[in-house]
Amino acid sequence: MTVPSDIAIAQSTTLQSINSIAAKIGLSTNNIEPYGHYKAKINPNDVFAKPAKSKRSKLILVTAINPTPAGEGKTTVTIGLADALNRVHQQQKSAEITMVALREPSLGPVFGMKGGAAGGGYAQVLPMEDINLHFTGDFHAIGAANNLLAAMLDNHIYQGNALNIDPKQVFWRRAVDMNDRQLRNIIDGMGKTTDGVMREDGFDITVASEVMAIFCLATDLADLKQRLGNILVAYNKDKQPVYARELNAHGAMAALLRDALKPNLVQTIEGTPAIVHGGPFANIAHGCNSVIATRVAMHLADYTLTEAGFGADLGAQKFCDIKCRLSGLTPDAAVIVATIRALKYNGGVAKDALTTENLSALAQGLPNLFKHIENMQNVYGLPVVVAINQFVSDTDAEVEMVRQACQEKGVEVALTQVWEKGGAGGEALANTLLNLLKDQDDQSSQFRFSYDSDNTIEDKIRTVAQRIYGAKDIDISILAQSKIRQLEALHLDKMPICIAKTQYSLSDNAKLLGRPTGFDIHVRDISISSGAGFIVVICGPIMKMPGLPKRPSAERIDVDDTGNITGLF
Ligand code: ADP
Ligand code: MG
Repeated sequence: MTVPSDIAIAQSTTLQSINSIAAKIGLSTNNIEPYGHYKAKINPNDVFAKPAKSKRSKLILVTAINPTPAGEGKTTVTIGLADALNRVHQQQKSAEITMVALREPSLGPVFGMKGGAAGGGYAQVLPMEDINLHFTGDFHAIGAANNLLAAMLDNHIYQGNALNIDPKQVFWRRAVDMNDRQLRNIIDGMGKTTDGVMREDGFDITVASEVMAIFCLATDLADLKQRLGNILVAYNKDKQPVYARELNAHGAMAALLRDALKPNLVQTIEGTPAIVHGGPFANIAHGCNSVIATRVAMHLADYTLTEAGFGADLGAQKFCDIKCRLSGLTPDAAVIVATIRALKYNGGVAKDALTTENLSALAQGLPNLFKHIENMQNVYGLPVVVAINQFVSDTDAEVEMVRQACQEKGVEVALTQVWEKGGAGGEALANTLLNLLKDQDDQSSQFRFSYDSDNTIEDKIRTVAQRIYGAKDIDISILAQSKIRQLEALHLDKMPICIAKTQYSLSDNAKLLGRPTGFDIHVRDISISSGAGFIVVICGPIMKMPGLPKRPSAERIDVDDTGNITGLF
């Protein structure tokens, strides 16, 4: 069977009105603010004023093994599994309902290499063109809030610099939601005396802005404003921190974000209510949709499926140690997505040979999956289901090998074909998950963090490096050490850490695939996202403003005279 392109499937689906999607989760037309016919903002205050749908609402994290450069289908499986759960609820004549909470796609990857992030095949959130392009404008609002702070900061320096800001110690950069390497490093403020103060500056992609991380961790408008005020924007000439609140920027920034902060309601191909809201990077930030979106979904549904970016060493680790710690959310289970091709990639197979059967490479890649399973179970105390996301190139022998390996380890495993078949292809996974959750009902949650945030920064980094990545030790550069001392002196060292490293390896070396041992994690630099509330630990080259590839996918995206968009994937 050949599966049509994502956009062809999306465009051939008859959408339900957003009012009928809202009705499925008990929201009336008064509780939503429609943006057209198929998207709506939900007012969280209206939601929380109602009784919760379930007393034991379950939160399930979808994560993955270390990926190939193409992504392994976490979003696709999250959406397909939600559709499958709703099928199972219906078959069982149960009144239970499942929702998904996902990140909003950034224009960078949409026009660059990776493509959109609204799922794939028959497991998508719709309208896919809107979600992948401007959607409800949240990212523009976040970019505007970021750039307002930048403008106010430079204006403050220009207007006499009462705060004595050192222009050489300004950390706040400008933002645009585009892969544009040309803006990575710039000189601005050139020209006449009245044209500002010349300094070295640069742009980050909007999803890398601290405003995005704050937006996704804020619990409400008041918390948002306070966090925005806490952004450390610069040091003054006496080496003391200058915060956004001293520039009186946080009120106007929050005003710009007022509507954006309301979660966006959309639907899957099969009519499952889905919330798509916020989307921070998963390296320098925590890589999950907004806390408000997750909470709203949990209030309205019995089961909420949510995704964390990259593999479990980055995304799931940050979901647990940052998002859950800072918000008080407790996950009930983890689904680890594994693909035969990514396992073979982790077993050393080249990117262009992943579609040929190769059992010995698969066997060599499997320890990568085992490490992520052990981390979720033993470190975080979460029950695990492995979802084998089937690609047409997978052979029966390969699938059987992964299934057996999981069974030998005593881990639940299910094959999913949601990309090819939609929810029907995820029922085995849905039933496995429901059984696992039922077993859990009799026990109190075993969920715990991987480290205590009151420990020293070195200690926290070492704990994650050794427990999660399997490293021997850590190696901190002189520069990073001095930054750590600085944060200690400012009493900013008791926050959780956010490690930025390659997503392709458990180590900080993209070439060390599988389950490497005996390696050190090299900490190059440290920075602080004091508004978001975490310390960023930079290992290796980390890009906050990606560039476009030689043939950007933008070259293949078009719109015809009737407004029909083509080329998105
Ligand atoms: P992730 O969330 O892990 O980055 P996505 O769910 O966005 O991954 O999927 C990445 C790409 O792979 C998408 O283009 C999606 O359509 C495609 N994809 C996912 N699962 C399958 C599958 N089983 N077969 C073929 N393509 C798939
Ligand atoms: Mg994804």
